[in-house]
Amino acid sequence: MKKHNFYAGPAILPKDVMRQASKAAINFNNSGLSILEISHRSADFAAVMEEAESLTRELLGVSDDYAVLFLTGGASSQFYMSAMNLLATDGKACYVDTGAWSTKAIKEAKAFGEIEIIASSKDKNYTYIPKRYKVPTDAAYLHLTSNNTISGTQHNWWPDTDVPFVCDMSSDIFSRPLDVNRFGMIYAGAQKNLGPAGVTLVIIRKDMLGKVNREIPTMLDYKTHIAKGSAFNTPPAFPIYVSMLTMRWIKAKGGVAEMAKKNKSKGGLLYREIDSNPLFVGTAAKKDRSLMNVTFLLNKPELEKEFLDMCTEAGCVGIKGHRSVGGFRASIYNAMPRGSVKVLTEVMQALAAKHG
Ligand SMILES: *Cc1c(COP(=O)(O)O)cnc(C)c1O
Repeated sequence: MKKHNFYAGPAILPKDVMRQASKAAINFNNSGLSILEISHRSADFAAVMEEAESLTRELLGVSDDYAVLFLTGGASSQFYMSAMNLLATDGKACYVDTGAWSTKAIKEAKAFGEIEIIASSKDKNYTYIPKRYKVPTDAAYLHLTSNNTISGTQHNWWPDTDVPFVCDMSSDIFSRPLDVNRFGMIYAGAQKNLGPAGVTLVIIRKDMLGKVNREIPTMLDYKTHIAKGSAFNTPPAFPIYVSMLTMRWIKAKGGVAEMAKKNKSKGGLLYREIDSNPLFVGTAAKKDRSLMNVTFLLNKPELEKEFLDMCTEAGCVGIKGHRSVGGFRASIYNAMPRGSVKVLTEVMQALAAKHG
């Protein structure tokens, strides 16, 4: 049966990408070798690294003022690595707390300097994005989480400040156009909207670096990876390759502007169903709703099992909400076809027809 993959991460990838990746796992570039068994210093793989970087630059409009890195350790390692490299011991960084991932970023950064939480939506269980806060001008950076994968909220505006943003874009990178020049650093674990788990994309403005004088271990120093083109040590070759294939796919589909159009259409379809169906209610504030992770509840919690069973029957998998918040979450990343979202809305309608 056809499956409709609503998992939050690792998550759906384009079918074409998967076909090419599986072919390369057997015979890469007709070399007679698998991409899994060749040197990361080989010409064939060096070309993959180069194309991954140039596609990142092209799709997001990243200038030469920025380095593009492919690192390991997940977005979670960037929580401390960013602060370790960018925040001086006697310096201050500001954080906006919009959910579980922000909270983890704050916890890790505290080891390196003063952390000021200038806004939080914890008071309402992270169901909205805080607005109208002041950013202290002496902050080294302002940390934001562009899309909150668990609570289903998303930034659709950016604070008005000269303080550079450090932004966790793990769950909405490449989902829409971006003015990269407003960011000092962007990081994203690949496994939501870009590729398989194992690689983390980091885009960092080079002049953000070199301002702290603490001892930084070689592997945790961005300058190491910039100097060596993300190949100081063995890079996660296969995840980088698959991410590169996804970027080719995005480009062929018309780039991030086209992704944004499709994402709006898909999100609109699902949110309209949630808002019009008597059995369901959205959990995020309407103006902050995420187009990547759609979170919702049943008005009649006793129907939860029946709904999930109907989802399974229709081939919809990964709908259950994050264990920390419950309810439901449909992750509808770039690779999610509109037709799959339609199937989910039909299941919701069928439940309402029975119980509405
Ligand atoms: C999934 C996720 C993370 C954690 O990513 P890892 O690669 O597992 O460390 C961090 N931030 C956001 C917004 C996420 O969605």
